[in-house]
Amino acid sequence: MTTALVTGGAGFLGSHLCERLLAEGHRVICIDNFLTGARRNIEHLMEREDFRFIEHDVTIPFEVEEDVDYVLHFASPASPIDYLELPIQTLKVGSLGTHNALGLTKVKKARFLLASTSEVYGDPLIHPQPETYWGNVNPVGPRGVYDEAKRFAEAMVMAYHRYHGLETRIVRIFNTYGPRMRPNDGRVVPAFSQQVLTHESLTVFGDGSQTRSFCYVDDLIEGIYRLLMSDRAEPTNIGNPHEMTILQFAKHLLKLTDSQSEIIYKPLPVDDPKTRQPDITQAKKHLGWEPRVPLDEGLGKTLDYFRQVLSEQQKLP
Ligand code: NAD
Ligand code: UDP
Repeated sequence: MTTALVTGGAGFLGSHLCERLLAEGHRVICIDNFLTGARRNIEHLMEREDFRFIEHDVTIPFEVEEDVDYVLHFASPASPIDYLELPIQTLKVGSLGTHNALGLTKVKKARFLLASTSEVYGDPLIHPQPETYWGNVNPVGPRGVYDEAKRFAEAMVMAYHRYHGLETRIVRIFNTYGPRMRPNDGRVVPAFSQQVLTHESLTVFGDGSQTRSFCYVDDLIEGIYRLLMSDRAEPTNIGNPHEMTILQFAKHLLKLTDSQSEIIYKPLPVDDPKTRQPDITQAKKHLGWEPRVPLDEGLGKTLDYFRQVLSEQQKLP
């Protein structure tokens, strides 16, 4: 049996990844300090013999006694609200956390996978974004803490790959949504979902003309698993190319849920990227991967989840 260690495994994506790795027959060690994740995301795995949880901040060096075959580094605040509230932690987990995770990988002679992001392209001047694009990032703007942490992390991964000969993978994740996002994490899918379900106004930032392309979590995890098992060391975009403006997305959700909520406009956050769409040519070619879950199916499952969480919190009207 092989063992995979997932940092940030109690988060939205990390918990789905732990489940997938277990389903593929790997033993899983999950490390998290619950900075932005939650115990409830992994509660159902805690009793399993092939699952071990370690509560730890990965910016502080760590060791595990057992053999490890794969290290997947997912720890990092990921929502703009989170990383604006936690700027130093975000920079530390992208730099020190990545260094510690790579150090462990080297000792264990394991394979490493970094959860990077479309934010390495910043406010892109090329559209859609291929992996060869170097990006347009403001290093000293408020989002710089996240973007530069991930860019540094990618550079560190490539240095370990080139200098130490480590087997490494880099996934550049584009906006992904699904069950287990925090309803109040500020990202657009949880924000709009909570607003339609509680009949509050939908808060569109700016004039809503900025675009995003939303990928359902199951599709993303499939792409990441294929990348992990491939021999591709180059960064690889995984995301859904189905692009829409945020205003179109708001209107679509209102129609889908038959909601009476109105749309209100709020200021656009500083450096909010105007467009974002993954070029997934490489993932198609090298991993035989492309997204399969239609938007409305993914949104249906996500809304069911938020309905459940909001009713537990007695926030549903
Ligand atoms: P999340 O906030 O739900 O998960 C992050 C997890 O990391 C949380 O459980 C948090 O407690 C943990 N964590 C943070 N700092 C830590 C530390 N120092 N030590 C240990 N654990 C720590 O966010 P997510 O959406 O699941 O994102 C997971 C990863 O994927 C992140 O690295 C993020 O940058 C990347 N990513 C996500 C998206 C997306 O659309 N969801 C897009 C691009 C990149
Ligand atoms: N957004 C919005 N209303 C909200 C939350 C977000 O209009 O309540 C916009 C945000 O300005 C951005 C897009 O939705 O243009 C996606 O934001 P998110 O925070 O989900 O992730 P990002 O892609 O910016 O990292």
